[in-house]
Amino acid sequence: AKPIVAIVGRPNVGKSTLFNRLAGHRIAIVEDTPGVTRDRIYADADWLRHNFKLIDTGGIEPKSDDIILAQMRRQAQVAMETADVIIFIVDGKTGLTDSDHEVAGMLRRSGKPIVLAVNKIDSFKDEDNAYEFFNLGLGDPITISASQGLGLGELLDEVVSHF
Ligand code: GDP
Ligand code: MG
Repeated sequence: AKPIVAIVGRPNVGKSTLFNRLAGHRIAIVEDTPGVTRDRIYADADWLRHNFKLIDTGGIEPKSDDIILAQMRRQAQVAMETADVIIFIVDGKTGLTDSDHEVAGMLRRSGKPIVLAVNKIDSFKDEDNAYEFFNLGLGDPITISASQGLGLGELLDEVVSHF
């Protein structure tokens, strides 16, 4: 079976943008059903002849702040149960949040390979924003810009190294 890579992170950090970038054209669409599924959540992807299945665990995002943490715990749970590698994506513009810390703790304890991606680093002058994420205890953050397509090669190299 293909390895499964799950994308986990707070609402609005760029999970869907990253997912759509990595999915390319070979996407297995989970049909948009109003009120049920807003995003495509599964896709086939590949990098350097490695084929894998990608999951956007944030396919259905909460609309109110008070359930964000509960939703993130659920996402992390799904990822920990199903994924071979987890991409934990954080927002380099917003900075580190309490829910990032909490979810990082859950992911760390799972023992699964975690790749930490700091998104929205759209230019080299923003690279310093990544340092604070060392505090999550998930190793070296990889800076990316999902919308600009920057850093994705480094990210995928790291992901497939765990297959
Ligand atoms: P999700 O809620 O985690 O799935 O996040 P989305 O992929 O929907 O993105 C949330 C917002 O962040 C959107 O307005 C995106 O255009 C924006 N965004 C995503 N990636 C980047 C990035 O690399 N740089 C910047 N500046 N904005 C981004
Ligand atoms: Mg999304």
